[in-house]
Amino acid sequence: MRESTIAIREFLTHTVMEKGFRKEFADVECKCGGRVFLLGADTQFDSVSWMCVSCETHYCLEATLTYTMILDELANCSCPCDLDRFEIGIGVSLYPINEVVSTAYIAGMCVHCGKITCFDLWSDVDLPYSLFFTSIYEP
Ligand SMILES: [Zn+2]
Ligand SMILES: [Zn+2]
Repeated sequence: MRESTIAIREFLTHTVMEKGFRKEFADVECKCGGRVFLLGADTQFDSVSWMCVSCETHYCLEATLTYTMILDELANCSCPCDLDRFEIGIGVSLYPINEVVSTAYIAGMCVHCGKITCFDLWSDVDLPYSLFFTSIYEP
């Protein structure tokens, strides 16, 4: 596993995620192999999008699976160092009996200074985690 992937998982596990739940993670990689993205989070509608800085492909993920994202306003996450290029990691905590997602966390690691920030947190997602992770789509 890549160092940045491990760092993001450890950050989420130890600093942000609920204790006592099983956790699963998804690595975010572009179809071109790119790992660096602009990231946008809409905390009101529980949706995020990211755009690969190499090939400009957009991706979206929503807590509600409505597939209705509008991309224009979403590249809004920036690091305290003022730059806005991230490697992205997504973590979910699961209810113990049915592998349904309780809470999802979206984190970005600044490729400039290395700081990791949790940009969005969705409670009560209530989707099987396999379905949740495969619902990332290109608008
Ligand atoms: Zn790409
Ligand atoms: Zn930074």
